[in-house]
Amino acid sequence: MCNSALFRRRFTWGLLTSLAWDDFGGVSTEPGVYCLRLVWDKGRNLGTTISGYKRTALLKAIKRKDEESHRLFRQVGLAREWGWDEYGQAIDRVDRLRRIEVTNGTLSCPILYFGSTNSLHRRLDELAFGGHTVNHAVWALLLGGWQLYAGWKEAQAYQAEEQRLKTMYMERHASNLPPLMDR
Ligand SMILES: [Zn+2]
Repeated sequence: MCNSALFRRRFTWGLLTSLAWDDFGGVSTEPGVYCLRLVWDKGRNLGTTISGYKRTALLKAIKRKDEESHRLFRQVGLAREWGWDEYGQAIDRVDRLRRIEVTNGTLSCPILYFGSTNSLHRRLDELAFGGHTVNHAVWALLLGGWQLYAGWKEAQAYQAEEQRLKTMYMERHASNLPPLMDR
């Protein structure tokens, strides 16, 4: 079991929805590292959360957009038989929530993702509203009623700080990274 001690110290924390409501007003525009922490709720079910999100009108609309891109590309004589695949990407990202490890009815680690950026303010805004690799997973969790905290810490050498966190995290988690991270 992990209490995310690596991130608690010297990080500033806010409930993602509250931060967004406030237009991320209190979040620094400086470079730094940030992370996403899930509040475990044993009354909720991740499988239900994933399947519920896949049935949303947003995902249906994205699928429709992909199909229309195929149609248009064909119509205008572009040789390719295929168009965009935003839907496939969205499904892949949401399915990453299945990687969240639960042991004895609680989270093995509450940290779902961490990263670095040249502007904490811009990146947290993207995390909530679009332009971030974990968007669909975040929206699925929020729709499923889960609480997510964002944590951030200024660091001018932000990439080096992210690397340092990765090394330390992997040392403490059997060489694994958080569930929503690939590398
Ligand atoms: Zn952990």
